Amino acid sequence: MKKPKITNSNKLYNKAIKIIPGGSQTFSKGPSQFTNNFAPKYLKKGKGCKVWDEDGNSYIDYVMGCQPLILGYSDKDINNAVNKQLKNGSTFSLMNRLEIEVAELLVKHIPSAEMVRFGKNGGDATTIAIKIARAVTKKQKIAFCGYHGWHDWFIASTDKSNGIPKFNDDLIYSFEYNNIKSLESVFKKNKNEIACVIMEPITVPEPKCFTKVCKNNSCKINKVCRNNFLHKVRKVCKENNALLIFDEVVTGFRYSIGGAQEYYNVTPDLTALAKGISNGVPLSAIVGKKKYMSLLGDDVFFSFTYGGECLGLAAAKACIKKLIKKKVPNYLQNIGSFFQSNLNKIIKKYKMDSFLSCDGHPCRSVFTIKDFKNYKNLEIKTFIQQELFRRGILWAAYHSLSYMHKKKDIQKTLNAFDETFKILSKIIKEKQNIKLKIEGDLVSPVFRKVSDFNSFINKR
Ligand code: PMP
Repeated sequence: MKKPKITNSNKLYNKAIKIIPGGSQTFSKGPSQFTNNFAPKYLKKGKGCKVWDEDGNSYIDYVMGCQPLILGYSDKDINNAVNKQLKNGSTFSLMNRLEIEVAELLVKHIPSAEMVRFGKNGGDATTIAIKIARAVTKKQKIAFCGYHGWHDWFIASTDKSNGIPKFNDDLIYSFEYNNIKSLESVFKKNKNEIACVIMEPITVPEPKCFTKVCKNNSCKINKVCRNNFLHKVRKVCKENNALLIFDEVVTGFRYSIGGAQEYYNVTPDLTALAKGISNGVPLSAIVGKKKYMSLLGDDVFFSFTYGGECLGLAAAKACIKKLIKKKVPNYLQNIGSFFQSNLNKIIKKYKMDSFLSCDGHPCRSVFTIKDFKNYKNLEIKTFIQQELFRRGILWAAYHSLSYMHKKKDIQKTLNAFDETFKILSKIIKEKQNIKLKIEGDLVSPVFRKVSDFNSFINKR
């Protein structure tokens, strides 16, 4: 099977690297994440779950613009809403009624939302949440679990901390998901100093359930469970006078219309929303309890030219309404279960389940690759990605499904995985050198310190 032609992609990239540092605006869209010299670099068009690159190749996309495209590319209702708003204008000199309309929708559907302010990136929402927590508690330190954006308070904890004053790193402490002791220990070591806990309510594993009668995670089904890891985190925050911030930048609207907080029946003090809110037209939101959010009125400064920009708001209004009308979270759960269970079956068929698995919740599953014998996980990942690209699948080891991923697309993807795993199992069985089978460059991790998706950036 032929390698995709990437002549135009490479020509563009050679121009870009001369005038754009790193070539890409978003680290995870750059060639370090998509096997360089094999994968395309530039996309030109998207429709539904498909994208077309600059050389005319098409792919079923599982990255979906780094996850915001929950309704798929170029959705007609979003396009209509944005086009209609564009005729009236996008940025105004005074406020616009859309700010209220979208805020009302969020207050109605997100359990923690009593008041709302808008930003543009996920990082705007997580950063202002931290600022509110520090202002409310008059404390400075942060306990975190996961990735929360490019801002100094967070990136200080990673190996990409160049240019960030050192004090930021002294103020942020990681804990491990589903390990309440690790959070308690952060509080113990920093007595009366932790302003807030910020975390994604779920990344890969389900929150551990501590009730015996509620085993097999039935808490996610009956929604009455009040005894899972997230409830414990809630309790620890309360006992320590720290705010609980859920980073629902990815989970928001994917797990349920009310976010993962509704799905798992745990209400945080503040919530950051972004990717799922407006189907790729830039918008984020910080929502939360009135007694905390009201600080943004006067006491805590959060203001910028494009706050309240109307194309994002028009998209959000149309997007949230459509997500509700079409019951998109249910759809993602069903199509995601079909995909995930069949993918794991194929892995088993080729007896590779000791080092490959498709884990996590079906609406946002993650492909786990462990080192196996002499084969390193990044070599295996690069090989799988290469073979999937060859077969028309754009893949980066997570599956950000959309309403436009239909059964036929999933089936085509499963077939591509089957063919890929067949070749991979032969390589392993015959002890072949996988490096000789990789036609492009190895992909690299975003952060070198990432050990796994959960403990993520475990510096301390
Ligand atoms: N939180 C989470 C969980 C994210 O995945 C991201 C982005 N990948 C962010 C925050 C930051 O969002 P943005 O890149 O839009 O600033």
